[in-house]
Amino acid sequence: MNAKLNFQKLRIIVNSRTAAKKKIKKCFYPGCNEKSINSHILQRKGILDKISTDSHLWTFRNNHQKDELEFKRLGLKKAFAFNCFCNHHDTELFKEIETTDIDFTKYRTMLLFTLRVLYDEIYKKMLFVETRELILDTNSDLFDKEDLIRDIEDGKLAISDLKRIEQKIILDLEQNTEHFVFKKRDIPRIALCVSTFFTYDTTEETDKAEAELGRKLDRYTEMFISIFPYQQGNILMMGYEKIDEVKVKDYFDEFFIEENPELCYMKITNLLIFNCENKVFGDQFYNRKIEGIESKYIEATQFMLDKNNKNERTSFKINFYDEDFKQIFSALKFK
Ligand SMILES: [Zn+2]
Repeated sequence: MNAKLNFQKLRIIVNSRTAAKKKIKKCFYPGCNEKSINSHILQRKGILDKISTDSHLWTFRNNHQKDELEFKRLGLKKAFAFNCFCNHHDTELFKEIETTDIDFTKYRTMLLFTLRVLYDEIYKKMLFVETRELILDTNSDLFDKEDLIRDIEDGKLAISDLKRIEQKIILDLEQNTEHFVFKKRDIPRIALCVSTFFTYDTTEETDKAEAELGRKLDRYTEMFISIFPYQQGNILMMGYEKIDEVKVKDYFDEFFIEENPELCYMKITNLLIFNCENKVFGDQFYNRKIEGIESKYIEATQFMLDKNNKNERTSFKINFYDEDFKQIFSALKFK
């Protein structure tokens, strides 16, 4: 595509995204009609401020103006922020985890961390769908309409999966049922935060299951992960839906083998690089683990998004805690 057409195309994307953002402004809590406010996916006090410098953190994001992945140092107001709750729900609902003395032995604590991220995921998917619907409305022939329609359908399916998880969380909160399995472990301080859902199933597994069924799967297996600084070290917290127990237990439990922390560190390093979007880094982490090899992170992300890669759980011998991490990671061959 020539430069002028490409510029027009990017302008339509950016404008549609801005318009879509303006359309999503209500609090996400079921039944609430209040206007949502800007808040953080993980609390600022006691968590984000442990790794930020001058109230700034590094983000890894898609620059929509250029359609390029980039690392960018952002102020805390923008980094790890979302617009999902009204003032009342943001304060009241999360009171128990907005303290410097969080009770991690409680099921409810894990549930609240999960709920917060869940809404952020729903927000992102809604923005994705709305943006594409607005692009479709422009009738511009710069876009492949079938691609847009497929993206919209996939996005809507993902939202309904997330909404099903939302209903279970709300039920657990209100009726003390337990639809999820959560685990937590302490890991050494590392200047990063991640909080996200990721799909356990690989494309290979999904294709195979759908071929056997003769139709699309009703749901994917979603997992939750959160890593954040707390007190002297970091917390690793993960969860899955109980109905997926048989399928995911072995994979999941490997993160929590006390006598083998190396395996845990390798697994989180792979997940963070290849499968998690929602992450922020402190200056210290950026300087030691990213600076100078930014393009390798971009290459890794593109490798995972490549349609020919059907095994998203591929893992490499890499570990953020390794002194030589930068060298080892840069030497990896992805093809
Ligand atoms: Zn509300």
